[in-house]
Amino acid sequence: VTVLVAIDGPAGSGKSSVSRAAADRLGFGILDTGAAYRALAWAALRTGTDLDDSQAITDLLAAWAYEITLRGEQRVTVRLPDPEAGRLSETVDVTAEIRDPGISAQVSRVSKHPAVRVSLNAMFRRIVAESGLPGVVIEGRDITTVVAPDAPVRILMTASPEVRAQRRAGELPGASREDVLADILARDAKDALVVDFVNPAPGVSLVDTSDFDFEQSVQAVIDIVRG
Ligand code: C5P
Repeated sequence: VTVLVAIDGPAGSGKSSVSRAAADRLGFGILDTGAAYRALAWAALRTGTDLDDSQAITDLLAAWAYEITLRGEQRVTVRLPDPEAGRLSETVDVTAEIRDPGISAQVSRVSKHPAVRVSLNAMFRRIVAESGLPGVVIEGRDITTVVAPDAPVRILMTASPEVRAQRRAGELPGASREDVLADILARDAKDALVVDFVNPAPGVSLVDTSDFDFEQSVQAVIDIVRG
């Protein structure tokens, strides 16, 4: 990879959709790191692994096979360890299922384990290194500080909690803005253990999308990348 763009941000900041659009226009790949945490939570639930057991989750991570597409439409697949058969299961496409609110509600139980983060962060670096792409946007949490602190472009994307709730409510038909805001604040509180969403680390550019529409947010990222 010749150009690495690291983007951190909370749910509803626009991080996922804006990063994807910016990557497309730059001709770069996009690595959505949240998908791996979601897939891991899904795999733990599917295999009856205790999500709060750091060792059990780390073992699952060492045994499974995980793949995610970096170009075009996102596709996330896993193969689960099958102790009885002594080999991995068939490939399971979990692209849709990992977006289920049930997974969103459980995922911080696996992302809170430091050992799990160390393993997944190593996996993210490996995926980028082996991508063979000229550029990759990598987005999630701990990306600008831990996963890719040396990336030439690092961005913290934020938006006010109210704006984030508004956007999320728009994505979830039937959900009230109040419920979504409560969910977002609860998830922030759990994820605050992981990263400071308000203050960018030294050298990290802050992009506050509260008053930006989608197009302006994408352009802000592209402008920073093009310098
Ligand atoms: O970005 P997304 O909403 O898909 O992330 C789901 C969850 O995965 C987050 O709430 C967080 O608990 C975890 N996560 C993380 N580190 C990342 C990406 C996601 O801890 N780099």
